[in-house]
Amino acid sequence: MSDVTIADPLESAIAELRAGMRGELIGPSDEGYEAARRVYNGMIDRRPALIARPTGAADVIEAVKVARESSLPLAVRCGGHSIAGNSVCDDGLVIDLSRMKGVRVDPMARTARANAGVLWGEFDREAQVFGLATPGGRVTTTGLGGFTLGGGYGWLSPKFGLTCDNLLSADVVTADGQMVTVSERENADLFWGLRGGSGNFGVVTSYEFRLYPLGPLVMGGLLLHSIDRGQEVARAYRDCVESAPDELATAIAVLMAPPAPFVPQHLQGKPVFGIVVLYAGAAEEAEAVVEPLKRLGPPAVDLVQPMPYTAFQALLDPTAPWGLHVYTRALHLQGLSDGAIDTFLEYGTEIAATSPWSQMIIFRHGGAVSRVPEDATAFSHRSTAYMAHPIAGWEDPADTERHLDWIRRFSAAMQTFTTGGVYLNLEGDEGEDKVRANFSAEKYAKLAALKAKWDPQNLFRLNQNIRPEE
Ligand SMILES: Cc1cc2nc3c(=O)[nH]c(=O)nc-3n(C[C@H](O)[C@H](O)[C@H](O)COP(=O)(O)OP(=O)(O)OC[C@H]3O[C@@H](n4cnc5c(N)ncnc54)[C@H](O)[C@@H]3O)c2cc1C
Repeated sequence: MSDVTIADPLESAIAELRAGMRGELIGPSDEGYEAARRVYNGMIDRRPALIARPTGAADVIEAVKVARESSLPLAVRCGGHSIAGNSVCDDGLVIDLSRMKGVRVDPMARTARANAGVLWGEFDREAQVFGLATPGGRVTTTGLGGFTLGGGYGWLSPKFGLTCDNLLSADVVTADGQMVTVSERENADLFWGLRGGSGNFGVVTSYEFRLYPLGPLVMGGLLLHSIDRGQEVARAYRDCVESAPDELATAIAVLMAPPAPFVPQHLQGKPVFGIVVLYAGAAEEAEAVVEPLKRLGPPAVDLVQPMPYTAFQALLDPTAPWGLHVYTRALHLQGLSDGAIDTFLEYGTEIAATSPWSQMIIFRHGGAVSRVPEDATAFSHRSTAYMAHPIAGWEDPADTERHLDWIRRFSAAMQTFTTGGVYLNLEGDEGEDKVRANFSAEKYAKLAALKAKWDPQNLFRLNQNIRPEE
């Protein structure tokens, strides 16, 4: 009998990480493990073998090396907002970047460098100190990581493009443990793939963004109408926004009116039709552009007013609490036809009536997003101006099937009005075929070749995964 013992890969990984990392390591028997393994979506209940919280790039390099050598499943996490739960795994290693904070704004160059664990609320706060901003998350607790790498639609996108369009450079730890900088000038192929190719190509340790002057006060807020005015107001809304400048960012929604003092009593607890409005331009022009929307109906509630940009960015936070069970889809529409509006209202009213956390949104995009050529980045479906985003939210796991059924029925009914494209960042786990189908054949082939070059073993696979070309 040989006296050679085969080391347990997990034990070896833990020993190596303990020796090589400065940051915290959390295992199942450690205090804080239960909280540390939880992600935004309460539907996701996974138990990693180990959670590593790097303090800097050196720790990330170490953790990637150990993951590669141990063959343990690997998940990478920033804000933990992945609807599909891609930032946590069972029985593997999670690289949790949440301790890597820090944003440095260069007000002269109008750029910001942010570390990998920064959330959008934190980023906006630092940039606004200098009266600057870039398109970012519409909920403050969303992480920079998954958001930027998957594209990133913010309220500022019609004016300034996707978040990934404003990424100037990034530092990335690749599967072989190398640290590379990517930009238009350095490793340009990888820079192309990072912008829309999700976390497939490595762990980003810091981002450099372009910034724009904005605020600190912006004109924005919410208009609410009774649901029976929804059809008439949605059609008039379409006519308004289609002739409006890119500075006007909007979305329409069907949601349950909260029992708040600003909502008339007869609408409280009922599905209502809402319009979210932001004017991302000069204050003196805001009134004239926003006014036609405020006159539609008129609204039962008009909360559109000057407010700090950071307050506007936090407006939707109460609708998106951490730990709720959620499932969402994001379907690019051919346009906002009467049929699309009617389907949106019919299903929106049904779901808003069943849960205060469920809502139906149609975002207006286009503008600067559509002016970037389709082949300039890995991101796809730039030309569409509207995106339908049903959100099912519930607290009791026993209700899961009912809510998933609503999402499926709505998606099927809406199909005839869509381009067939989806926004992967807001999709639940719809499978590999969906990822492949979401890129043109040419773009997918380019991404697969890039994956084969930078991550041939598919180490980074817990994401909207691109298979390495064989
Ligand atoms: C409440 C809520 C609001 C949202 N609002 C918007 C919105 O306004 N606009 C929009 O476009 N999308 C929005 N999204 C979708 C959002 O873009 C995605 O969920 C995104 O993945 C979240 O990023 P994260 O870092 O928080 O997620 P995580 O769950 O931490 O990560 C998501 C994916 O990105 C990968 N990843 C994260 N960081 C890195 C990194 N540094 N290097 C490599 N890979 C990494 C992870 O491995 C995982 O696959 C929202 C989602 C939620 C839940």
